[in-house]
Amino acid sequence: MARVALVTGGGRGIGRECVLALARKACAVAAAARTRSEVDRVAKEASALGVRTLAVEVDVTDAAQVERAVREVMDALGPVDVLVNNAGIADSAPFTRTDRELWERHLRVNVTGPYLLTQAVLPGMLARRWGRVINIASLAGLYGAAYVTAYVASKHALVGFTRALALEVSGKGITVNAICPGYVATDLTWKSARNIAARTGTSFDEAVAALARINPGGRLIDPGEVAIVVARLLEDEATNGQTLVIDGSGPIPEPEEATEP
Ligand code: NAP
Repeated sequence: MARVALVTGGGRGIGRECVLALARKACAVAAAARTRSEVDRVAKEASALGVRTLAVEVDVTDAAQVERAVREVMDALGPVDVLVNNAGIADSAPFTRTDRELWERHLRVNVTGPYLLTQAVLPGMLARRWGRVINIASLAGLYGAAYVTAYVASKHALVGFTRALALEVSGKGITVNAICPGYVATDLTWKSARNIAARTGTSFDEAVAALARINPGGRLIDPGEVAIVVARLLEDEATNGQTLVIDGSGPIPEPEEATEP
């Protein structure tokens, strides 16, 4: 029986790669985000891999929308076995200009979103005694960085949430893990590079190179590298409550072979 996966922020970047990697693992997969055109496109790409798919429009900060989205997935594909809490935002500002709106927006999207989604799917996972909750945190969930207090605080909170829930579900067929990438080649990083370039007067390319050098591996991470780790967690019953760091130290891995749907 094919597993059913739901990926938030599934319209582009890391989320898109997770949708495709889970489809290659023969999961029925739902791509969820606010931009309809993007989730439609990714669901179509995943369908081409021969699995059942769904595009879902949802703002993860809105409890009613999350409830409706999970019901839509249930009706179209079945109960969610694999939840990838990937939707996230990362805006920078010095702390003195980190106003209440910016602060709370990060907590709402990056922490309350995963809380709402997990609340909606965990009871079913517990009843079926199988589930995977995979939170896309960040190296910013483990270390500090300047000018991103709201983002760093939100990702530390997501790591704390992961560790606590993992202990609660331990031994019940469910694992809860966090993946902690450094800078990944996605729109989110291009936006940071544009901000740095505007603030410091360097070029966009120089700003990208500077961000790549911050990664311990000295290069940007490919979004597919994050998706490979997500897909591997499906078969892994032993890893629970862990923070899996992806820092670009190794060579870019080949995507895994597709499984027959
Ligand atoms: P991205 O390209 O900007 O994609 C973010 C995704 O999240 C989009 O699909 C976006 O879609 C969705 N999203 C944002 N707010 C949402 C909301 N309120 N409700 C539903 N969906 C929402 O970013 P990315 O780099 O792929 O990042 C994905 C995750 O990886 C984030 O949690 C990020 O913090 C984490 N991460 C990224 C990096 C990096 O360097 N890129 C490094 C470490 C961790 P809509 O705007 O259409 O809703």
